[in-house]
Amino acid sequence: MTFAFTATVLGSPRIGPRRELKRAVEAYWAGNLDAAALEAVGKDLRRQAWAELTSAGIDSVPVGTFSYYDQMLDTAVMLGALPERVAGIDDELDRYFAAARGTDTVPPLEMTKWFDTNYHYLVPEITAATSFVLNAAKVLGEVAEARALGVPARPVVIGPVTFLLLSKFDDGSALDRLDEIVPLYADLLSRLADAGAEWVQIDEPALVADRTDAELAATRSVYDRLAALDHRPAILVASYFGDLGAALPVLTSTGIEGIAVDLVAGSLDAVIATPDIERKHLVAGVVDGRNVWRNGLDGSLATLETLRERAGSVAVSTSCSLLHVPYTLDGEDALDGALRSWLAFGSEKIGEVATLATGLRSGRDAIAAELSEARAAAATRAADPRLHDDAIRDRLAALTDADRTRIAAADRRAVQASELPLPQLPTTTIGSYPQTTAIRVARAALRTGEIDQAEYVRRMRAEVADVIALQEKLGLDVLVHGEPERNDMVQYFAEQLDGFFATANGWVQSYGSRCVRPPILFGDVRRPEPMTVEWFTYAQSLTDKPVKGMLTGPVTILAWSFVRDDQPLAESADQIALAIRDETIDLEASGAKVVQVDEPALRELLPLRAADQPAYLDWAVGAFRLSTAGIADTTAIHTHLCYSEFGEVIGAIAGLDADVTSIEAARSHMEVLDDLNAVGFDLGVGPGVYDIHSPRVPSVDEIAASLRAALKAVPSERLWVNPDCGLKTRGPVEVEASLRHLVEAAHAVRAEL
Ligand code: GLN
Ligand code: ZN
Repeated sequence: MTFAFTATVLGSPRIGPRRELKRAVEAYWAGNLDAAALEAVGKDLRRQAWAELTSAGIDSVPVGTFSYYDQMLDTAVMLGALPERVAGIDDELDRYFAAARGTDTVPPLEMTKWFDTNYHYLVPEITAATSFVLNAAKVLGEVAEARALGVPARPVVIGPVTFLLLSKFDDGSALDRLDEIVPLYADLLSRLADAGAEWVQIDEPALVADRTDAELAATRSVYDRLAALDHRPAILVASYFGDLGAALPVLTSTGIEGIAVDLVAGSLDAVIATPDIERKHLVAGVVDGRNVWRNGLDGSLATLETLRERAGSVAVSTSCSLLHVPYTLDGEDALDGALRSWLAFGSEKIGEVATLATGLRSGRDAIAAELSEARAAAATRAADPRLHDDAIRDRLAALTDADRTRIAAADRRAVQASELPLPQLPTTTIGSYPQTTAIRVARAALRTGEIDQAEYVRRMRAEVADVIALQEKLGLDVLVHGEPERNDMVQYFAEQLDGFFATANGWVQSYGSRCVRPPILFGDVRRPEPMTVEWFTYAQSLTDKPVKGMLTGPVTILAWSFVRDDQPLAESADQIALAIRDETIDLEASGAKVVQVDEPALRELLPLRAADQPAYLDWAVGAFRLSTAGIADTTAIHTHLCYSEFGEVIGAIAGLDADVTSIEAARSHMEVLDDLNAVGFDLGVGPGVYDIHSPRVPSVDEIAASLRAALKAVPSERLWVNPDCGLKTRGPVEVEASLRHLVEAAHAVRAEL
């Protein structure tokens, strides 16, 4: 019988407790660090992660979740499935980074969100010419490295079903190619057995989304085949981010030894009701790997005990990889004691797993101190006045549909046109202008105390003045202040709202070397004072053209924060919406005729299962409408969305009822407009006329051609002219040239109307 481990996590973060890997890969890219030095940093980070796990009492350690960029890219490398266009790059590491980031001559793989998290993976491209071949060097190397250190290594790879379902195909589909890669996995398993691995973890998170019967049948066949191999480690198929649903009985019917289930996002009932569960080692994800709250150990123990009665054996685990939470609470010195006691980051979660495993093995008395500490924390949390602001709760309780409803869009269009006359095909930008060196220097100087707040504001105002002058010179119609004062479109607001806490070092990987520091929403949301009005007022004072007030919407603020787990998301969304609503009203009172409320993350929070999507869209749209329906009919609401393929959210975009929606469209050649027409969208729309993700300056002809294409789908009265997204990542020279061409193209096409 295989050793049934008792305590584990599904994966470790890799960016480093102080973002060491970020610094090292960026130095490597800049030519300031050689490959050997980069590898030494990686090796050291792996050693640290493993040491932390083993010393905490984790008896099966995930190995192979380290990555220089992304685990899907690593899997593509493992299966010999890098795109043809990087094949000419001899050096392996440079080829890998070329696939990840592109080079001057080669575009990178596309990037997209990893399920419903804020992590982004690279999308492997599979073509008819892809001929898969196993290259197991990375995972075998890391297993050898771990075993040499005495670490009980459990190699982790992304499974064949998930790998293919998440890849992109030029023709054919995922299932057509399974038979080509299953033998490679079989070969891999035999080599891992040779390397001494007792267990292998095969991640199949794609199984927590809706799957067709054909996909489920294919899953069964894959695991029947892998389980039938006689030389292999015990197989743990890992799921996370939701319930396995119909895939769970499929997995239990195969000969695999273990299944990891997410008992935070998923439910215990379905698991214990599944046939054959008594024949499996169940890795129970009871410690939340995605959110930052301290585990209420009592409830988790009860879950584990119930599961133990049914399953063959049980191990305690996190619900998913710890990739999605910050490393440690150590060093978060600005946390007050109460708030700190409610939280658990990566290190603390490892401790919780170990504690629960002890409790499960030896009984509650063995962890009495930990249990009472967790109970005390839960009690102070429930009683903390910051979590329950009666004024806010009363306001929410009194809301009616009228608070989320404006008069008919066509009537608004008429009154807005007389309030603010604009030319046909009005030109505007999405909000941010280049984050110049001067801005970065000022921000750093403020942080170190070299300059004070007054000096910082003075410098940012100078930036605003420059951006207004530039837009006037270029002849744009609706101006923006440029957002120089915002470090980040969510954190900026979170820092000004009660109920949020911003961490000092709570970094999590977003993609590659890019990390974000999500704020923690812990209490009721209150806006102590206006957040953006002074910046707006100053910008508007510099010009006779209209300046847009610029806000982030409630769904996006929620999506890019760690959220409360003690109330429904919908309630948190409405609380934030009220704060944004008050801000729109203040902006209007200060003279704004246009207020833009950005919701680039509207699609990100969409639940993985179709059955859960309508309820989400309902509250998400409702929160946006609550945030924007408090102003006069004469004031225009704009919104901005950052994707061009709507999929399931298309109807919701019409439901937002924004007077103008600017949306990414350049890369998909205006196709979004047809999608919008298909759901009867009849509001203003600004399909991005050029792609801001590249430094390339689009020509006047090219932009004019896009506009003419857009006019085939949208009448001129509803069409706006703008780039795809904000300009903060671009350089000032290319921005000026691109916008000059944009204005010229708008003029040229206007003349044709
Ligand atoms: N207003 C923001 C900006 O221009 C929007 C950013 C976004 O869409 N992600 O930067
Ligand atoms: Zn955008």
